[in-house]
Amino acid sequence: MATDEERLEEVYQSVVSRNPGEVEFHQAVREVLDSLGPVIAKRPELAEQRVIERICEPERQIIFGVPWQDDRGEVHINRGFRVQFNSALGPYKGGLRFHPSVYLGTIKFLGFEQTFKNALTGLPIGGGKGGADFNPRDRSDAEIMRFCQSFMLELSRDLGEYRDVPAGDIGVGQREIGYLFGMYKRISKQYESGVLTGKGPGWGGSHARREATGYGSVFFMREMLRTRGESLEGKTCVVSGSGNVAIYTIEKLEQLGARVVACSDSDGFIYDAGGIDLHLLKEIKEDARLRISTYTERKTQARYVDHGNAWDVPCDLAFPSATQNELNGRDARTLVKNGCIAVSEGANMPCTPDAVKVFQDAGVSFGLGKAANAGGVAVSALEMQQNASRDSWTFAHTERRLEQIMQDIHRLCWETAETYGTPGNYVRGANMASFIRVSEAMLSLGLT
Ligand code: NDP
Repeated sequence: MATDEERLEEVYQSVVSRNPGEVEFHQAVREVLDSLGPVIAKRPELAEQRVIERICEPERQIIFGVPWQDDRGEVHINRGFRVQFNSALGPYKGGLRFHPSVYLGTIKFLGFEQTFKNALTGLPIGGGKGGADFNPRDRSDAEIMRFCQSFMLELSRDLGEYRDVPAGDIGVGQREIGYLFGMYKRISKQYESGVLTGKGPGWGGSHARREATGYGSVFFMREMLRTRGESLEGKTCVVSGSGNVAIYTIEKLEQLGARVVACSDSDGFIYDAGGIDLHLLKEIKEDARLRISTYTERKTQARYVDHGNAWDVPCDLAFPSATQNELNGRDARTLVKNGCIAVSEGANMPCTPDAVKVFQDAGVSFGLGKAANAGGVAVSALEMQQNASRDSWTFAHTERRLEQIMQDIHRLCWETAETYGTPGNYVRGANMASFIRVSEAMLSLGLT
């Protein structure tokens, strides 16, 4: 008779052999399975019913070609993906990523994570993710529109407000959601607002959706600090990235009295000792879509470090908010040495397993992405609610709901970690609590 640990290891080995070369997916599965021992020990029926194996297998994987024409008339072909991972709790829900590094393994890892993240929100949404290996960098507005239209022409077959509801992710913001929604509307011949989230507030979107992931990550950090008898006031912070999540993390940190001294893009980082000028950052990144290096042209006292590592900048709090595996064991050791006391993952799986271990061994409060960045999808689910009831809530009301959801997620992770004998371990708490929610629903629904 195999022990619980042996059974979990068998599941992991089977995932590796059934999904060869998909290293990010393997990493995400490993992290969850490593947390589940105490749950399986208490709930043997979950292992007997093969819920763990089933939860690691996507319900559906869709791959399609996306032909499009650039402004010079040249034809390109990209590859599009949608992985409908798990629908035990509701329609598939999860963003679309447009980035040249995207392949099936990226989307599978993100869809797997999304299933558990969505469960933590307590809202009725399953997990999915999609995207394309398309590089939006330096593409004109017209090229982006043509790509989005071609992508949606194919993806539309598999969407629906009760079936699968995408949103944004890296390379997909409100502009892209607009082009995607416009094409869906034309194909479906109806104004089905609930089929995509992250829409503009003027055409069916929710107020505070744009801000939600970043704000939520800061709310989660505030809760972690409370457990240590600390607050955000006066803390020095480093935020990686300068996209949607990073910008609104910086905004909320500034509102709550912290000072962000560095942020980055994939070319390098800027250091501004007096605090990042958010107005200027938004102008550069949101309006002009320029590189972050241009910040120092306007703020000459700031420093740009080409291909530098933002984690070398001393800080109390770190917010990795760019992409997966961007913060490794060496970076974590540097952060700990420099006095960092807490980390909130705005991005999905930005810290490598080595880095997570360094943080946990050093007593750093470590907010796992599934929990810390769940604010985005939570407000997406609120957008679906508003669409279904043809209503539009105010910014303040939606932000209050977001704040409450993040407090609830923090409490759930904290209490679950304690119940299963790993107090203060948000990784274990988040993975166990979300696994229990998804697997209980799967058992109730039978073998479907
Ligand atoms: P954006 O496209 O708006 O911004 C991404 C930022 O990260 C940019 O500054 C980009 O720099 C940088 N970046 C992207 N890829 C890399 C890379 N390979 N190496 C270094 N830097 C990189 O994306 P979002 O802000 O929406 O997403 C950021 C992270 O947050 C992702 O992990 C995403 O999955 C996660 N997330 C997003 C949510 C949302 O609501 N948007 C919800 C939950 C999680 P550059 O411009 O140079 O590429």
